[in-house]
Amino acid sequence: MMDDFDLPAFEPGWVWLVGAGPGDPGLLTLYALHALRHADVVVYDALVDRRCLAQAGPSARLEFAGKRGGRPSPTQPDISRRLIELARAGNRVLRLKGGDPFVFGRGGEEALALVEAGVKFRLVPGITAGVAGLAYAGIPATHRESNAAVAFVTGHTAGGDVPDDLDWQGLAKGVPVIVFYMALGHMREIAGRLMTAGRDGGEPVAVISKATTAEQRVLVSTLAVCAADVAEAQIEPPALMVVGEVVRLRASLDWFTPLQAGMKGPKSEGA
Ligand code: SAH
Repeated sequence: MMDDFDLPAFEPGWVWLVGAGPGDPGLLTLYALHALRHADVVVYDALVDRRCLAQAGPSARLEFAGKRGGRPSPTQPDISRRLIELARAGNRVLRLKGGDPFVFGRGGEEALALVEAGVKFRLVPGITAGVAGLAYAGIPATHRESNAAVAFVTGHTAGGDVPDDLDWQGLAKGVPVIVFYMALGHMREIAGRLMTAGRDGGEPVAVISKATTAEQRVLVSTLAVCAADVAEAQIEPPALMVVGEVVRLRASLDWFTPLQAGMKGPKSEGA
């Protein structure tokens, strides 16, 4: 199938920092699948879909590095130290993250720690939720004549608040389509700031939850009422918030909802 393309060997002592994509295992890259099949240890985050993990080879050890059931989660330095320790012990270490490691994934921090420790690494991008989630919701991130720019923005900072150091005026005036990650608990604040900066309360908003999975739900609303609608619909994380006229295209381009009925897993109640 790919006679002229050889996947690189996963060498012992290396760390592969890999994006697993947003959920649907069909969105794993060939590099990600290759790494899963050959890793000795897979250090994974809460957002990595279990069907992606199920692709790991039979002798791979799976190590969870996220939050679990009230227990304190390992800190970022803890995780970096663990990766270095595993690599120095001669393991093929797969660090697997949801979406893309360099998009709100702290991949940069981990890579810097590896550089400092002299551990060799490879970076494998994944399909970020802000790209895949829109595609599975039938919302083009860009559409000719509608928007020449799109922004990915975090809905909250390390401190848990809506980012204050962001130029909300510039964002609201200059970027027609804005995709917020980690926005679910902050929608009222985000929508309020955008409207204060001049965006119309009637502008369409989509909230996409559990994108690319059988449980995907998409709620379409407007800036003025989206926070109330999301609370009433009990939308669950992880979720993206998309603001912009492109949301209207979902009415014509929603290809995924009809397929969900035939998918394994909990049925979607999504609108
Ligand atoms: N590195 C990841 C993002 C991690 S931040 C990436 O590139 O996708 C976590 C946020 O990503 C969540 O709060 C949510 O906003 C978004 N996200 C990740 N997976 C998602 C999914 N399957 N559906 C909807 N949003 C998702």
